[in-house]
Amino acid sequence: MKELQEKIKEYGTVLPGNVLKVDAFLNHQVDPVLMKHMGKEFAKLYKDAGVTKIWTVESSGIAPAVMTGLAMNVPVIFARKHKSLTLKDDLYTASVYSYTKETTNQISISKKYVSPTDKVLLIDDFLANGQALEGMLQIAQAAGVEVAGAGIVIEKTFQKGGQELRKQGLRIESLAKVSSLANGKAEFED
Ligand code: 5GP
Repeated sequence: MKELQEKIKEYGTVLPGNVLKVDAFLNHQVDPVLMKHMGKEFAKLYKDAGVTKIWTVESSGIAPAVMTGLAMNVPVIFARKHKSLTLKDDLYTASVYSYTKETTNQISISKKYVSPTDKVLLIDDFLANGQALEGMLQIAQAAGVEVAGAGIVIEKTFQKGGQELRKQGLRIESLAKVSSLANGKAEFED
């Protein structure tokens, strides 16, 4: 997606450890117009996939996920990273190692909002080693829910997640594919 590539070129900075910082439009300040366009794009890519629900992981996946849900007219669930007073029982959970925070989190989705007839689209802001998607896939498997595929805002194709999950048969659509962050510069793959 050209518009997204331009934003990355204009505002993206590269941090140690091959981390792309896009706080200007995705991970802290959010660009609603870009989010809306991305939601429409994911909706177009998955229009014939029979999607009934969008799943993401809090927090940076929420903005593109909500815009996709709006474009597809389906509800959005964000897996919670912390148990709270309001989310305690009857949960599906999975462990997810966070690439940027270098910690392991439990992610949880309430059974109340999961139905075996669901067909879910997994949305996330980044795909690096695939841990976040794997966590959601584990929950889908435990819940007996079908997965239509994944929609990723920025895939770092030089890391192994995308390749491994596609090999397992998961459909993954990424709006920007970054093939390198060497020398502080994002290179794109078409
Ligand atoms: P994975 O689970 O695929 O290894 O990493 C995906 C998660 O880690 C995303 O949900 C995102 O929060 C975070 N992440 C991975 N790589 C980057 C990056 O280069 N920049 C930012 N801002 N977040 C990243």
